[in-house]
Amino acid sequence: MSLHNYSQKFKEIETPFYYYDIDLLKATLTEAQKQLGKGPYQIHYAFKANFNRRILNEILQFGFGADCVSGNEVRKAIEVGFDPQHIVFAGVGKTDKEIKIGLQNDIFAFNVESIEELKVLNELAGALGKKARFALRINPNVDAGTHEYITTGTRDNKFGITVTELVAALPLIRSLAHTEFIGIHFHIGSQITDLSKFELLIEKCNQVQSLLVEQGFSLPHVNVGGGLGIDYENPKDHLMADFKGYFDRFKKDLHLYPGQRLHFELGRSLVAQCGSLISRVLYIKPAANTHFMILDAGMTELIRPALYRSFHYIENLTSIKERRIYDVVGPICETSDTFTKGMSLPITERGDIIAIRSTGAYGEVMASHYNLREVAPSIYSDDF
Ligand SMILES: *Cc1c(COP(=O)(O)O)cnc(C)c1O
Repeated sequence: MSLHNYSQKFKEIETPFYYYDIDLLKATLTEAQKQLGKGPYQIHYAFKANFNRRILNEILQFGFGADCVSGNEVRKAIEVGFDPQHIVFAGVGKTDKEIKIGLQNDIFAFNVESIEELKVLNELAGALGKKARFALRINPNVDAGTHEYITTGTRDNKFGITVTELVAALPLIRSLAHTEFIGIHFHIGSQITDLSKFELLIEKCNQVQSLLVEQGFSLPHVNVGGGLGIDYENPKDHLMADFKGYFDRFKKDLHLYPGQRLHFELGRSLVAQCGSLISRVLYIKPAANTHFMILDAGMTELIRPALYRSFHYIENLTSIKERRIYDVVGPICETSDTFTKGMSLPITERGDIIAIRSTGAYGEVMASHYNLREVAPSIYSDDF
């Protein structure tokens, strides 16, 4: 249902808050599962995109695994009901304490990001009398063509190991007694909308796989990470990511060896479009070249524009007047606390209700207490 239908209800609620369309979330998860199709495929939901309990409850219904990047995410995944046998754990800086959480819970796999980490994992597993399954995260040195802060797969990024390092480490990998090498892992970046970028990843993956086979390894798992982008510019017309285009590329071009399972780690594409940040207009302030629309939500509720200069589509839910140009800003004492500049919106006044769209991923979970702000609550469509 259109957010405009809720404008009167929203007016009665204290703002700002996150609003989640649970029907859209379910429809998106259904579509992803459908397009993944039958076969040796598995989706792991990337927890860091949104670990709101209500969102997780819906995701759990679909039997997805969990992709965690901290010990607390591993704990939380298990606590809410994800099967440890479907939990993967990535991160360049896992502490000993976090590794132990993974070991004690017998998670499916550690996505190991350096050779030093692998040695520590082997040691800690030995001390606990465990055998740790791990995939090595390979940095394929491909450019995902996305914002530099969310690019992770080039040689200038801190993530994973190079193919050269992998080859050099093979004797070590064979010698470790408390670890089991089960697969390779990649994650080249986030918000990738040019799907042809994934072909570069697929090509690298095929090369690494044949290299490992030549060396006598037969690994049961391949994990290609996440990164599928969504349409921030025009969410109304594209509420779903192109799951079909994305999965089909991998199914068609990635070479799986007999018995291998292909894993995906999707975050943003599953949850971004179901969330909107709802805010109230505090003041309109004329300026030399624009009008500032000052909201009661800011970078403390949604940091993406300040952090990555990312664009979010903004709607006025309570005005249908003629349009004018606005710079939409938050109340925080930082110039980067700007949602967007030069946006055409209906003439707006104090008290109008504004929706900042596509905020279901990397929104609520990145909120901060800066300026001693209160945490914005969350409201769900099925509560109305
Ligand atoms: C963040 C992350 C993901 C999810 O990325 P999206 O762009 O949200 O799909 C997957 N895998 C790893 C290792 C990540 O760090």
